[in-house]
Amino acid sequence: MTLFLYDTLRREKRGFEPRDPKRVTLYVCGPTVYDFAHIGNARPPVVFDVLVRLLRRTYGADAVVYARNVTDVDDKINAKAAKEGVPIGEVTARYEAAYLADMAALNVSPPDIAPHVTDHMDAIVKQIGAIIAAGSAYAAEGHVLFDVSSYPSYGALSGRNLDDMIAGARVEVAPYKKNPHDFVLWKPSKAGEPSWPSPWGEGRPGWHIECSAMIEQVLGLPIDIHGGGIDLVFPHHENEIAQGVCAHGHAHADAAHEEYARYWMHNGFLTVDAEKMSKSIGNVLLLHDLVQHMPGEVVRWALLSAHYRQPLDWNQSLLDQSRKNLDRLYGALGRAKGVEAPAGDPPADFIAAIEDDLNTPGAIASLFALSSEIERGMTAGDHAAVAQAKSALLGAANILGVLQSDPDAWFSGGADDSLKAEVEALLAERLQARADKNWAEADRIRDRLTALNVVVMDGPTGATWRMKE
Ligand code: AMP
Ligand code: ZN
Repeated sequence: MTLFLYDTLRREKRGFEPRDPKRVTLYVCGPTVYDFAHIGNARPPVVFDVLVRLLRRTYGADAVVYARNVTDVDDKINAKAAKEGVPIGEVTARYEAAYLADMAALNVSPPDIAPHVTDHMDAIVKQIGAIIAAGSAYAAEGHVLFDVSSYPSYGALSGRNLDDMIAGARVEVAPYKKNPHDFVLWKPSKAGEPSWPSPWGEGRPGWHIECSAMIEQVLGLPIDIHGGGIDLVFPHHENEIAQGVCAHGHAHADAAHEEYARYWMHNGFLTVDAEKMSKSIGNVLLLHDLVQHMPGEVVRWALLSAHYRQPLDWNQSLLDQSRKNLDRLYGALGRAKGVEAPAGDPPADFIAAIEDDLNTPGAIASLFALSSEIERGMTAGDHAAVAQAKSALLGAANILGVLQSDPDAWFSGGADDSLKAEVEALLAERLQARADKNWAEADRIRDRLTALNVVVMDGPTGATWRMKE
C-alpha cells in the first residue's frame, strides 16, 4: 500500500516517495513561546504526530527524523518580557515548559529534534549571507531584505502572482525596500531588545529565515515533508521556499522549489462555537485549562475526528461525542480484559483510510467495527475472534495515539480506591437485583450511584461506569 498526501504546492494528492527511505525528514513549524497555547495550536502537533507514527511504522522507528522548532526570538516575546521586566529567556522557558506539558497530556510524542532560534544564530547569519551572495537579498540601513523579484516562482505555493500583489499593495513601504513585497531577513533591534552580532550590524532575524536556516542545519535540504497550519502558507512558507532555494543559487532552475521541501502539508483552521478564536471575543480556549477539565485523550480524539484539512468546530457536542466514542471503545476493551492480545497489525481498511491523506474519520470507523467484533465475540464466547479484533484494535489505536490507558483507569478516572470498591459492590448488587427482577431495588441502587457522581453505561455484555465530569 502507498501513502498518499495532499501537497499544497502541487494542489493534488501525491504518492509519498521519500528522497531516502532510510532517512525520512519532516519539519513542522512549532510554537512561538510567549503565551499559553490554545486549542487551535494543538491541531498541527496532533495531526503531524499521527503522520509521524505512520511513517515510523512504514519506514522504521529510526528512519524518521522529525523536527518541530521552538520560536524563542520574536517581537511578541520581546513585548512580554519588557512588560514583565524579565529577560526573554524567562518568558520563553516558562511557556515552552507549559507547551511540552500540554503536548504530553495529548499524548503527542516529542519530536526527535526541537531546534531553538537562539541556538542557531550562526546558521541563520550563514544562510542570509548565502542569499546575498547569490544575488537574492540586499542590505540597507541595518536591514537585510529578500529581493522577491529575483525568484521567478515566488507565489507558487500560495497561488499568488507577484504582479497582482504589487498592483494590490496599499501598505506603507519602508524607504529602504526596493519592492513592497521584499521581506526582512535581518533587522536592527530596538534599544533594550536582545540582539546578536551580524555582518550587517547588531540585530535579530526575521521569522521566516529562522525556520529555513534551522531546517537546513538540523535536517539538510531538501526535506521530505514540511507542515503547519493553513495560515502559514503565506507569507511564512512562501518565504521559506524562496530563501531555501535562493540560498543555493537555484532561483532559475526548473522545479527549484524541490530543492527545499518535497511535500507541503497544511491543516485547516479550528473555530470555537463557529467563531474564530480571538481575545476580543473572549473565546480563546487554552490547552492547559482544557486538560484540567477533561482527559487529554478526549481533546486528542476531538482533534482527530475531522479530516485534518477540513475546518473543525470546537463545541460541546464535539466533546460529548468524543467522550462517548472513547467510552464505547474502552468499554469493549474492558469487557475483553480477560482475553490476552498484544497490539498487532491494524486491519487493511484502517491502513487504507489513514494512508489516504490521513483520513482519520475513516480510520475511526474502522476502530468501531473492531469494537463491535469484540462485543460479538464476547457474547458468543469466541475468544479467538476477540483476541484477533482486540489485537488489531490496539495496533490501529497506536497509530492514532489513542486507547493508551487501562480501561479500568479510563472509567474510574478521578475515583479513589474506596469509592471504586463501593461502586463495584453496588454494581454487583444491581446485577443481582435485575436478575431477581427486583426493579425497585435496581432503581434504588442506581440512585445511590448517581449520588456518588457515577454514570452507569449498560453495554451488550455488561455495565461499565465512569465518574461524571
Ligand atoms: P503560532 O504560535 O501562532 O505561530 O501557531 C502555531 C501553530 O498553530 C501554527 O502551525 C498555526 O498555523 C497553528 N494554528 C494557530 N491557530 C490555529 C487555529 N485556530 N486552528 C488550527 N491551527 C492553528
Ligand atoms: Zn516556520
